[in-house]
Amino acid sequence: MQDYTVLFGILLALLLGLAGGKAWERYKLQEGRWVDRRKIRQSPHFILGLNHLVSGQVDLAIEDLEKAARLDPGALELRLVLGNLYREKGQVGRAIHEHQSLLQRPRLSKLEHANIQLCLGLDYRRGGFVDRAAAAFAEVLKLDPNSEAALANLEKLQEDQHQWQEAYVTRQRLAQLAGPPDQPKSQSILAFLENEIGLQALKEGRLDDAARRFEAAIEADGTIVTAFIHLGEVRMRQGDVLAAVSTWERAIDVAPDRAYLALDRLERAYKEMQAPGRFAELCRRLIAASPREWRARLALARHLGEQGRPHDALELLLEGLEHNPHALAIHQAIWNTLSVMDLPRPLVARYIEVTRQSVFYLDPHVCVRCRYRSTELLWQCPHCHEWNTFVEERISPATDQEAEIPAAVT
Ligand SMILES: [Zn+2]
Repeated sequence: MQDYTVLFGILLALLLGLAGGKAWERYKLQEGRWVDRRKIRQSPHFILGLNHLVSGQVDLAIEDLEKAARLDPGALELRLVLGNLYREKGQVGRAIHEHQSLLQRPRLSKLEHANIQLCLGLDYRRGGFVDRAAAAFAEVLKLDPNSEAALANLEKLQEDQHQWQEAYVTRQRLAQLAGPPDQPKSQSILAFLENEIGLQALKEGRLDDAARRFEAAIEADGTIVTAFIHLGEVRMRQGDVLAAVSTWERAIDVAPDRAYLALDRLERAYKEMQAPGRFAELCRRLIAASPREWRARLALARHLGEQGRPHDALELLLEGLEHNPHALAIHQAIWNTLSVMDLPRPLVARYIEVTRQSVFYLDPHVCVRCRYRSTELLWQCPHCHEWNTFVEERISPATDQEAEIPAAVT
C-alpha cells in the first residue's frame, strides 16, 4: 500500500516536473534569461534527478533536484516538485515551508499562484490540517474555477468529514467539467453520495427524506446495491413489507453477485408474509445461475437446518465449501450441522477430505485500486478513498499444476 502511494507521488511529481520543464522554458524567455536555463540543462543533476524518480529512489532524486535548483534559484516549478517530494516522504512541515516560501515571490502569474496553492492544499491534507487544506483548495478554485485537481481533493476532504451534501455539490461541478467520457463514473459517485445523505436522514428518523434520497441514488446509478438495501429497510420501517421485498428482489436482479446482502432480510420478510417457500426458491435460483455462489448455499442450508433437514443442509454446505474453502462461515455452519447430527463418522470424514486440499484465505475483500484488504465489503475504500472498488477474491482448491509450486500463498 505504501509502495503504491510513493509510486503515485513519484509519477505525479514527474508529470509536474515535465510540465514544469516546458513552462520553465517559456518563463525564461519572457524574462530574457537564456544563460541560466542552459546552465541547468547542461547540468546533469536535473536529468539524474528524473532518472532517480523513475527508478523510485526518492532520496537520491531529491538530492540531485536540489542541486539542479541551486543553479537557478528562480526555477519555480522545480521547487514545487521538490516540495511535493518532501511531502511524499512524509516531511510535511518541510513541504509546507517550501511551498509557502514560493508564495512570497513577486510577479507570480495566476496559474503559478494556483499551482502553489494546490500543492499547499495537498501538504495540509497530508498533515491532517483539514481547514487549511480546504481553504487552500478554495483559493485555487478562486484563481482557476476549472481546476479539477482542486475539486477532486476538496471532495475527498468533504467526504472524510462526512459532509456529504457539500461533497455532492463538488462532485456535480466535477461532473460538469469532465464531460461525457467521465460522466458514468461521476454518476456512480453521485449515487453513493446521495446514498450517504439518505443514511443520515435514516439515522435521524426522517424516513420519507431517506427514501427520496435512496430513490435518487438508484435513479443516478441503477446498479447501486446499497441504496436498494437501505430503501428496502425504510419500506420495512414504514410497515410496507411488500414494497420492501420487491426492492430487495430488485437489488438481487441488478447485482446477483451481491445477492447475499439482501438474503437475510428477504428471509425474514418472506416469513412475515407467510411465504417461507419463496426463500428456498430464490436461493435455488441463485445457485443455479452461478454455481460458485456460496452465500446462497449457506443461507439455504441454515434455512433447511431450522426446518429440521440437516442432511440436505450439509450437502449444500459441502458443495459450497468446495468452491470457497476460505469462507469461515461455511466451516462453522458445517460443524453446527454435524453436531446437531451427533457427528456421524462418514460425514466428518467427507468434510475432512474436502478441506484437506483447500487453500485457506483471510480478508476475502480487496480494493482493486490500492489492494487494501477487508474482511467485509466496503463501499468506500478507507485507504485510497475511491468508491465501489472492492471485489471478493475467490480461492479454489489448488489444481495439480498449482500444487507443485511449494506453498506459494501470499
Ligand atoms: Zn483502495
